[in-house]
Amino acid sequence: MNNHKEGVREIAVYIHLPFCVRKCLYCDFISGCYSEEIQNSYVNKLLQEIDWFFAERKKKKSENIRISTIFFGGGTPSILPTNEINRILCKLKDNCELSSNAEISIEVNPGTVKLSDAGEENKFESYRRMGINRISIGMQSASDDELKTLGRIHTAEEFDETYRMAMKAGFDVINVDVMYALPGQNYASFEKSLRKVAALDPKPKHISAYSLIVEEGTPFYDTDFHALGKDLPDEDEERRMYEGAADILAEYGYEQYEISNYSLPGYECKHNCAYWTGKEYVGFGIAAASLIDDMRFTNTKSMEEYLNAPDYESLLTLQTDVEQLSETDLMSEFVILGLRMNRGVKDSEFFERFQLHLWEAYGGIIETHVGNGLLYRAEDGSISLTGEGRNLSNYVMKDFL
Ligand code: SF4
Repeated sequence: MNNHKEGVREIAVYIHLPFCVRKCLYCDFISGCYSEEIQNSYVNKLLQEIDWFFAERKKKKSENIRISTIFFGGGTPSILPTNEINRILCKLKDNCELSSNAEISIEVNPGTVKLSDAGEENKFESYRRMGINRISIGMQSASDDELKTLGRIHTAEEFDETYRMAMKAGFDVINVDVMYALPGQNYASFEKSLRKVAALDPKPKHISAYSLIVEEGTPFYDTDFHALGKDLPDEDEERRMYEGAADILAEYGYEQYEISNYSLPGYECKHNCAYWTGKEYVGFGIAAASLIDDMRFTNTKSMEEYLNAPDYESLLTLQTDVEQLSETDLMSEFVILGLRMNRGVKDSEFFERFQLHLWEAYGGIIETHVGNGLLYRAEDGSISLTGEGRNLSNYVMKDFL
């Protein structure tokens, strides 16, 4: 899936910072509580990995790489001192060009942004100075009781304070994460959280609303919520929350542009859109995934292995899920990811990439799902999920595999 424009290769960059104050009870991300010493070593290794990656590219190919988006995710990237984030940004800029309108996002959690290492009241001023232009705040719920059940480190009031601080520092592009289908949650309490976010003044430009998935290996998996009087919402209630989110947020001017994402017009997350529209991306840090040169791979998930890798070769041998994608894989990935977005898959873009029309590649499947009302096919041949199709997206998408 190459994106060469004017001889320039555009990539999205993800930086994984797997540090958290403590582990939330539902979390199965690669993250944990690490000492300051490990955090320092990790950032140093990450800087090394960035150098190694670009040196290797230069050795093998003569190409100009331009970064279109950078996303600092985790974990809780805001745990790190701001100068560490700046070191990573500088390292990327030392190695390649950064697009002049690059979107640079950082995830922050309430309770981790006070006092910057530059002695300021909070970290947002520093973030702005170094060029970060989008903040993503993990609020999850406006109910202290729900936050406590989730094992989050913050209260609803701390979220308010964090939001105010980010606004005061001049960040006008802010995403707020909200979760639903939580233990003990009902539609009314979810609605309250969502309305609280949408009614913030000024409004966040972007809201992500995700349902809780109870994953094996997390403390939630072994919890008897019924015995605690906090039953998980059933499937119907969960669907009501999902459908309700789009209706509620529409009242405030938000458009649903992807299964779990809503924005005011023009403020879709460019970084995530890069994934969903088949652009190339490179991830740095443990467990970070990449897709470049039609090759997919994931870095080792082990902190120890990552820190001890003496050179790039060793890091490469530790990669998992390494896969050279065939043309068929690429086509199916292009469609499945594209269908996550409300705009769907444009036939013209599919044709530009694969020299085939969607109908030629997937005529039978398209016909079936247009017939059962789950897919919409526009006159120009583009396809998108219908409202019902979004509810049953996994069922539709598996047919394109
Ligand atoms: S803050 Fe995020 S990454 Fe960290 S434990 Fe909680 S859910 Fe997981």
